[in-house]
Amino acid sequence: MTAEKSSNTIEISINTDVLVIGTGAAGAEAAEVISAQGYKVAVAGDGGQDIAQSGRAELIEGAHIRDFAGVAGDFRACFVKDGQRLERNFGAVVIAPGRNVRPQAEPFGLSLGERVITLGELEKILADGNARSKLGGAAVALLLNLTWEGDPQYTARVLEASLAIQQLEGATASIYAGNVKVAAPGLERKFTYVREQGVVCFKPMEKPSIEQTGDKIRITTLDSILRKTLVAEYDYLVVEEKAEPSDRDLDLAYSLRLDTDLEGFLPSNNVHRFPVNSNREGIYIAAPGLGANIALRIKELFGDGVKSVPADRAVVDPEKCTICLTCYRCCPHGAIFWQDGVAAISPLACQGCGICASECPMDAIQIGGFNDKDLRRQVREAVAATQKPAIVAFCCQNSALEAGRAAAEFGMDLPAGLKLIKVPCAGKVDVEFIMQAFVDGADGVMVAACHEGNCKAERGNLFARWRVNEIRKRLEALGIDKQRLLFTTFASNMAKGFAETAAQFAGSL
Ligand code: SF4
Ligand code: SF4
Repeated sequence: MTAEKSSNTIEISINTDVLVIGTGAAGAEAAEVISAQGYKVAVAGDGGQDIAQSGRAELIEGAHIRDFAGVAGDFRACFVKDGQRLERNFGAVVIAPGRNVRPQAEPFGLSLGERVITLGELEKILADGNARSKLGGAAVALLLNLTWEGDPQYTARVLEASLAIQQLEGATASIYAGNVKVAAPGLERKFTYVREQGVVCFKPMEKPSIEQTGDKIRITTLDSILRKTLVAEYDYLVVEEKAEPSDRDLDLAYSLRLDTDLEGFLPSNNVHRFPVNSNREGIYIAAPGLGANIALRIKELFGDGVKSVPADRAVVDPEKCTICLTCYRCCPHGAIFWQDGVAAISPLACQGCGICASECPMDAIQIGGFNDKDLRRQVREAVAATQKPAIVAFCCQNSALEAGRAAAEFGMDLPAGLKLIKVPCAGKVDVEFIMQAFVDGADGVMVAACHEGNCKAERGNLFARWRVNEIRKRLEALGIDKQRLLFTTFASNMAKGFAETAAQFAGSL
């Protein structure tokens, strides 16, 4: 990656080759849509002959990532293939997650057998003309999202299978479903259609009781719609297949510094993020049917191979950097690398959250639009200009600032002495800014962040809460009432909540 400086932007030349990891349906779809845009694609994984035959992508068969480094536009992957190391450079990476599947018979005290089968086994039977005939005239019950949260793809498979059963001579399908996930194109409509075709759907209020007696399976359930206990007998029971993250994905998450959700799946949940984005710019997570989203993200990142980005999103002063690694460890977006023996920040990968700047022990990092000098001046002015009680509220621009401004615009009662200071993320509220506000004469300081799990910078709110807790201890040690420092969280639509919290805080000072 090369960079040339203009006045306030940098032109970056980007490597436009893409690595797709995973040769399954989602990997093949991603490879196809990306290569259709004219970018070179290499697919790494086991199998994948159909991808190679399509001629749309190079197949690096049997290659597994050993080391991974770099930033968006300039990643370096080191594979091991047949015992040999193979190094390649890519501008972006797409991971098609794999899944381990665990049949859920045991939670109901059942064992898999001829009458108790998994969804995968049912799909095989339905696909085989001879085997399918044994389901003719049978009553089949399918369980859906009773033992795990499920996902739209799994829901789609259950709906397809139940419809196929219902269309067999004399056969009936019934679905016992927990929360049905229909957040995929056309799935809500399909769910309605399946019911119109005669598939019966039950919504148990609690886990159904299921017994197998000989060739029959009896299900007793308290239905949440009819509000009564229902007992029905079936010839076959199709238990759920609970998906678990594959070992490969857990290894990839570690090597590529990707966040996972609480169960270990890629990507981590984040309401601020578009589908397929991970916490790192240039690394995307594929899923069947999301090829168009992947293509769009890659196009946005690469363009025609040269990208213009702000020159000062986050900048390290090399004279001050002591290579302590703090910024590298705390950057949630993997935007920091090493150049000429000191830390450097990729303007393409950096999201400008400012966590690194607040954590750097040498104050070596400045954030464009939020430099320390300006923020100190804003704190001074806020305290000087305000009425009593003087409250300085550091507000994340993605949530609390919106809520606070909306409260003011809607004419809600806000304390007269409240001043909002915009920060890129609560993770940019330095310890020294909070202490300075008190020294300058603030009666109270609010640090207002996004709710836990909703931080655009993944964990800027956690850094902010941790710093506030530390400062409250220091205030207490100095004999200052720690209640004068408040950590709080908002969503951007919480104008009323913001006004109430601010009023309550002012009243407590
Ligand atoms: S935290 Fe500061 S001193 Fe440490 S490596 Fe990063 S820029 Fe250098
Ligand atoms: S500002 Fe945020 S995204 Fe950018 S380098 Fe610092 S921690 Fe990473």
